[in-house]
Amino acid sequence: MGRERVPVVAGNWKMHTTIAEARALAAAVVERARGLEGIEVVVCPPFVSLDAVRQVTAGSNVQVGAQNMFHQPRGPYTGEISPPMLVPLCRYVILGHSERRTHFGETDELVNLKVRAAVAHGLIPILCVGENLAENESGQTEAVVERQVRLGLQGVTPEQIGALVIAYEPVWAIGTGRPATPEGANRVIGFIRRIIAGLAGDAAAAAVRIQYGGSVTPQNAPDLAAQPEIDGALVGGASLKAEDFGSILRAWYTSS
Ligand code: PEP
Repeated sequence: MGRERVPVVAGNWKMHTTIAEARALAAAVVERARGLEGIEVVVCPPFVSLDAVRQVTAGSNVQVGAQNMFHQPRGPYTGEISPPMLVPLCRYVILGHSERRTHFGETDELVNLKVRAAVAHGLIPILCVGENLAENESGQTEAVVERQVRLGLQGVTPEQIGALVIAYEPVWAIGTGRPATPEGANRVIGFIRRIIAGLAGDAAAAAVRIQYGGSVTPQNAPDLAAQPEIDGALVGGASLKAEDFGSILRAWYTSS
């Protein structure tokens, strides 16, 4: 197919897996990712399993990401995890996931502080954006996504923007079994790429990887992967089954 960008498929394990379960799941993902060149594979376990998963995936083509991060390097922030703590453990960090925005009150301003801190420490943010159902039904998808992208990336240089990952995750599609259509996801992702072009220039827009997330399964992954703007997936539920995650990886591998 000759893709312009290397697809990145990431599993967000959310608040699932004990350390022992995370180790076993990571080992199973390593098996299924073996030989899938031309795509990037990332697993994002809970914080407490990052080191175990790092060890299990060492030397493989599976990379590790965290699911969140605070922006301060250290200090009196009970329960938080800082960028320097993550640096030895992982390469990616999911920021601004809708579950963080909804359940923990994360604002675009806070997400922006986190994105800037991540890039300053050499971590690759996976910046999540996406409209909720009411916003979707009232025709506000583009306005919401544009606001989240612009505020989330304030103060980030064009080079840094080109090197990060954005995940378009319509909130109504997350964990619902109701994914966006491949054409619909492709259209919004194309829109996000045009915003990036305006913000950071054509080179950054051509380089930035923009994933789709929301009820991705082995069944719908091939049609999503066939879309030219969709540079991979952020996968929740289906990433907890190595077999399903492996099928999703192969969908992007085949399309790359
Ligand atoms: C997610 O949590 O980012 C997600 C997309 O979840 P799911 O695949 O389960 O919809």
